[in-house]
Amino acid sequence: MHRLFFGLIFLFSIGISGQEKYPQEAFRAPLEIPLILAGTFGELRSNHFHSGIDIKTQQREGLPIFAIGDGTVTRIKVSLWGYGKVLYVAHPNGYTSVYGHLQKFSPEIEEYIKKVQYKKKSYEVEVFPNYGDVKVEKGKVIAYSGNTGGSSGPHLHFEIRSSISEKPTNPLLYGLEVRDATDPILDKLYGYPISKDAQINQSNDKVEINFSRQKDGTYLADSVSALGTIGFGFLGYDRQDLAANKNGIYSVQQLVNGKVYTDYDFESFSFSETRYINTLIDYDHYGKYRKKIQRCFKTKANRLSIYNTLKNNGKIAVREGLSYSVEILIKDLKGNLTKVTIPVEGKKEEIIIKKEDTKTETFIVAKKPNNYNLGAAKVYFPTNTFYKDFYIDLKKGNDTVTIHNSRIPAHRKFTITFDVTKYPKAERKQLFIARLDKKMKPNYASTYKRKNTFTTRTRNLGTYTLAKDTIAPKVKAKNFKEKQWLNNYSYLSLKISDDLSGIDTYSATINGKWILMEYEPKKNTITYNFEDTIIDQKQCHLVVIVTDNVGNSTTFDSTFYRK
Ligand SMILES: [Zn+2]
Repeated sequence: MHRLFFGLIFLFSIGISGQEKYPQEAFRAPLEIPLILAGTFGELRSNHFHSGIDIKTQQREGLPIFAIGDGTVTRIKVSLWGYGKVLYVAHPNGYTSVYGHLQKFSPEIEEYIKKVQYKKKSYEVEVFPNYGDVKVEKGKVIAYSGNTGGSSGPHLHFEIRSSISEKPTNPLLYGLEVRDATDPILDKLYGYPISKDAQINQSNDKVEINFSRQKDGTYLADSVSALGTIGFGFLGYDRQDLAANKNGIYSVQQLVNGKVYTDYDFESFSFSETRYINTLIDYDHYGKYRKKIQRCFKTKANRLSIYNTLKNNGKIAVREGLSYSVEILIKDLKGNLTKVTIPVEGKKEEIIIKKEDTKTETFIVAKKPNNYNLGAAKVYFPTNTFYKDFYIDLKKGNDTVTIHNSRIPAHRKFTITFDVTKYPKAERKQLFIARLDKKMKPNYASTYKRKNTFTTRTRNLGTYTLAKDTIAPKVKAKNFKEKQWLNNYSYLSLKISDDLSGIDTYSATINGKWILMEYEPKKNTITYNFEDTIIDQKQCHLVVIVTDNVGNSTTFDSTFYRK
């Protein structure tokens, strides 16, 4: 009886979520604490979909991370940005598990990677061990959780990819237990007039649509009057049990009079398409309000493979005198469902709210390369830098150039080239290309210096100028003093910082021998572990050299004693 009951539930649950494609028993969880998510797979991030799950680690670092299955380490990377310290384990069943933002690796892997770091004299390294060289066993500790790289709080970033295609898949499709009985939350609903003649509620610009909760738990939107080709979009998120944070939803369906017009989910996607998130969301709205509206219709430039069904690209052709029932269903991976019904009446009305007219002198055709001379700099947009044709706002200046604003996304990098002929050679050394942020503070943009020109390649629209960094980085001892005995110390720590162009490189030696210092840019700290090397002299002379992005350099030196 029990067996049959559970069997039926199991069949039902795999039937609805397509989990049958993925092994359900092969993997264990990467942590031994209950899995509470700070981020879901496919969650909308800036310029990409989240390619894994973020597992909370009780606001601390150093929790043991376990291999989810037998396998071999195929890649180890230590980076200041991105995944920080990360481990890739290939499993015999064709999947690779990825563990990111680690504090450190297991002793064996730590020894392996430190050899490489000392050989290359670099903290940042990437190695691809030969198949079988670094084996791991299911359930054995392979690393400790941390907060390295582009992480803003302790957590484990965990992925499961196909080993061959490297396509990331939703890790929750492999039978990992995450408690979630909470329905996704619908925050805001929007209607989009799409065709030139289209209108919604007397507007030919995007309109917000109110909705309210019904007795049966579903939502009903205020009836809208519309005409022409229209579409819908929404702001929504999911929440797991035991956590207040907002996570991404799993799937979206849009039905028109019972017919599926749109159906997409985050079962899997490929890294090559992830930037097309900028075509799924209403980027203009994102540029203005930093909120990501998911649109239930697909634009021409959108090349995402996440769609299971699309009818008329999710767009609805509304005719006068007809009525339509539009339903939007948002679900999490457990099948918890939030549904909103929007009654639509085909009606021609007087337009009261007109779309703002943003014509400029320059109309840019996305599928052609475009070159502009803006006085202080030239800008070159390669073919398909942008997703659509639009009126671009270009401003010339003596020292600055403004390339539109951040409300338009660029899919490809474009080039900005400043002429530096007017600057004496000595001065050029300290100059760099800077992007001015909202507070007009200059931020370093990677500057390639040629004879009379400086060039940067970027995807960020905005204001650029030449800035000058004349001040060398600062270096300060953090946990020790000059001429101190450091016998009981396990590590040396220093603070490094730069006021403007930012730190480019650093290196450290003790008595002339290179030592590994781990750099944490979030804390401006570099740290040396005394276990790394055998210091055979009582008197130790530490030299640290830090260089900023224009080549200003500071040498710090200090003597300490140890026996
Ligand atoms: Zn993550």
